[in-house]
Amino acid sequence: MACVSSAFVLFLLPFDDLGAMAATSADKSVDTGMYEKRRLLYESIALKSGLDWHFVAAIDQYERTMSRAHPKTRPISENAVSGVYVTESDWSGDLNPETNDSNPSSIRFFRGIGRDGSGDGVADRRKDEDALFSVAAQVAKQGSAEDDLAIGLWEYYHNTRAVQRVMQFVMLYRHFDRLDLSGNAFPLPLESTYSFRSTWGNSRGWGGKRIHEGTDIFANYGVPVKSTCYGVVEMKGWNAFGGWRIGIRDLNNLYHYYAHLSGFDKKIKMGDIVRPGQVIGYVGSSGYGRPGTQGKFPPHLHYGVYRDRGLVEWAFDPYPLLRRWEREELKSLKASKH
Ligand SMILES: [Zn+2]
Repeated sequence: MACVSSAFVLFLLPFDDLGAMAATSADKSVDTGMYEKRRLLYESIALKSGLDWHFVAAIDQYERTMSRAHPKTRPISENAVSGVYVTESDWSGDLNPETNDSNPSSIRFFRGIGRDGSGDGVADRRKDEDALFSVAAQVAKQGSAEDDLAIGLWEYYHNTRAVQRVMQFVMLYRHFDRLDLSGNAFPLPLESTYSFRSTWGNSRGWGGKRIHEGTDIFANYGVPVKSTCYGVVEMKGWNAFGGWRIGIRDLNNLYHYYAHLSGFDKKIKMGDIVRPGQVIGYVGSSGYGRPGTQGKFPPHLHYGVYRDRGLVEWAFDPYPLLRRWEREELKSLKASKH
């Protein structure tokens, strides 16, 4: 089935990114021990930097999503608790002849960002406390009021998307007051009648040469559409291709896109926090015309997932994820009936 697209640009993946994309489609589950380690790290960095731990967590999580999206240029150790990556020259200072400097005072002299966060007198780029504290200290430079932090983020990343992302992650961590927000749900009720197959990359009929960047789930008008993840409503409204559509950002920096809806849940608005399984709208056939156009194709949910890679967003095939969420939900449904 033809459909969608939005302001996104689709790129072909270079081969060295294929490994990263495989990890992408199923962001590895994190064991609870790791969450506890992270929480302790964030609380200690919060004390030292004057930021609250939710904010420290948000910076670290944003860094982690960038490290996952760019494993070649941002290599971080498997055992690392922090997701932060700082280049040698940023750490030591551009003009520092010691490119791998770990002396806090010479780093400061050469205006590197490297700091000692662990209190051992050494600024070690590969150490969780030092790396995370160094970035947190940069972000807190302008002050720790919310507006100051947005400026601090801008000064550090020089990227409006990065600022938006960290702020969204802060909202999520503050709202739930925990780090583990990893659950998922299938976007339609399992008891409804629906069908879908893999349609990744098929050509589609409306609006010129575009390939299909998602999975179409066919179902009847009015079937509830649910959020697949914990996230923030980043976009909601009409688009000539997608019709009534809604976009939700999760903590893995994935953008979940639901299109051709007949309408939205009445309470849902931009900036809202949603959880897996929460109803966000209803299946329809909107799109391919002026606002409100319906019925140019059979009703279905177009579901797409995009990964933010810092400057651009890349679509990847959500079909395997959908099958997995469907299977997992079915399993837990069965278990709860016994
Ligand atoms: Zn579609």
